Amino acid sequence: MNEIRQKGHPQGLYVLFATEMWERFNYYGLRAVLILFMTKALLFDHAFASNLYGSYTGLAFLTPLIGGYVADRYWGNQRSIIAGGLVMAIGEFILFFCGSFYHSAPQLSSILFFSGLGFMITGNGFFKPNISSLVGQLYPKADRRLDAAYTIFYMGINIGGALGPFLCGLVGDTGNPADFKWSFLVGAIGMLLSVTVQLLFHHKYVKGPDGNVLGLTPANSPKNATNPIVIIASLLGLSFITIGLIYIDAKVFNYLFYLLIGCIMFIAILVFSDKALTPQEKSKIIVIFVVSFFVIFFWSAFEQAGASLTFFADEQTNRNLGFFVVPASWFQSLNSAFVVAFAPLFAWLWINLGKREPSSPTKMALGLFLLALGYLWIAFGVKNVQPGIKVSMIWLTGMYALHTCGELCLSPIGLSLVNQLAPAKFASLLMAVWFTANAFANKFAGVLSSLYPDNKTTNFLGIYEMSNLYSFFMLFVFMAGIASVILFFLTRLLQKMMR
Ligand code: GLN
Repeated sequence: MNEIRQKGHPQGLYVLFATEMWERFNYYGLRAVLILFMTKALLFDHAFASNLYGSYTGLAFLTPLIGGYVADRYWGNQRSIIAGGLVMAIGEFILFFCGSFYHSAPQLSSILFFSGLGFMITGNGFFKPNISSLVGQLYPKADRRLDAAYTIFYMGINIGGALGPFLCGLVGDTGNPADFKWSFLVGAIGMLLSVTVQLLFHHKYVKGPDGNVLGLTPANSPKNATNPIVIIASLLGLSFITIGLIYIDAKVFNYLFYLLIGCIMFIAILVFSDKALTPQEKSKIIVIFVVSFFVIFFWSAFEQAGASLTFFADEQTNRNLGFFVVPASWFQSLNSAFVVAFAPLFAWLWINLGKREPSSPTKMALGLFLLALGYLWIAFGVKNVQPGIKVSMIWLTGMYALHTCGELCLSPIGLSLVNQLAPAKFASLLMAVWFTANAFANKFAGVLSSLYPDNKTTNFLGIYEMSNLYSFFMLFVFMAGIASVILFFLTRLLQKMMR
């Protein structure tokens, strides 16, 4: 009996699966229409909207550092997940009102817009790190089912990631900007479903190997910390801070890059000044930093999906099927749908390669290469196309297929590499390095998307000029391609350092 149980997965995994699925439905559903809402309803220009998109997604990857810390010390995972989920649902409702009033009360809707995003950022910070950490806690240490568990969980993420843009795009991305509000409402409903699943099933099913319910209040948490008034006040306080942070970065001064570099330096100093670290541990930690640096080039190109690539889907792609015009936002479903389709293939491939399975850094270099190839494909598709002519949907679709193959080589591999290499006492801090690199990449993605050359020539760092879409997409080919080649040459050294 015990034997059979060991082979399957704990039922709690499926509770976490559903919780995460509906949350990602809400996050990616919003991401699918966000840039369109900004440019078509709020009438922001492409460059400003792109920068704001970067500030939003960048901050959304930074707040998990706070959410993880608070959960470990004060609230526990479950309370943090529910709190974060409710805060995100409020964010979506605020955006719903923003979408309802943008025409009649532009001033009010601008306040509502930044507020909605601020709540989303705060909520995500409490939700995302805690749900991922619960998955690991379901199993005994070094359980062989863990990799499979994370693969199943990644499926949940991506079923949500595919359904969100599809449904939110269907109801909101209709060609009438007044309809975007329905996307936000549908996102809010998804988020509430996630919280409901958690409330109904967590205590019954989400249990550790010893049978105890997981993610409850930590034993040494001070009593006041879980007082509902304290919790509500902290969440509101933090939401107001993030509203200010996103507003300042987008409208006043682009400080986010400096903040993120500061975070990384701070963590590096903190870790490397520990005298107890052995030389082996030190070199493993250096690998984490190096690998995190390279993933910046991956995600900053990949995350164009919610920005420049959606401009491209909207303005330059022929979406008319005769009987139906495919909403531009639907293209954001493709990546997740491809993950669900291809992930088993990759798992099978790595197992079947056996001894010839590439090392983790090699896989990551391959991921960057596939990303570059995706951009080369779409660059080829737009080459010599006259302005005003729309290209076939196969270019975006093929590019997303290649990007997804790249993601499957890089994302899960990088995550488990960080987990394996980090000494136990710095596990969370080094996970924070990975998150901060993601935050940096997302902000950078917004900056790069602001260089989208629509009726104007743009410039990258004064060295690379872009006057058409071909040269814009080639920028990503160069960026990811060069990063891939360098990482490839470094793999031997990194492998040595990982031993
Ligand atoms: N698509 C995955 C998720 O949303 C991974 C994103 C990332 O690590 N940047 O969880």
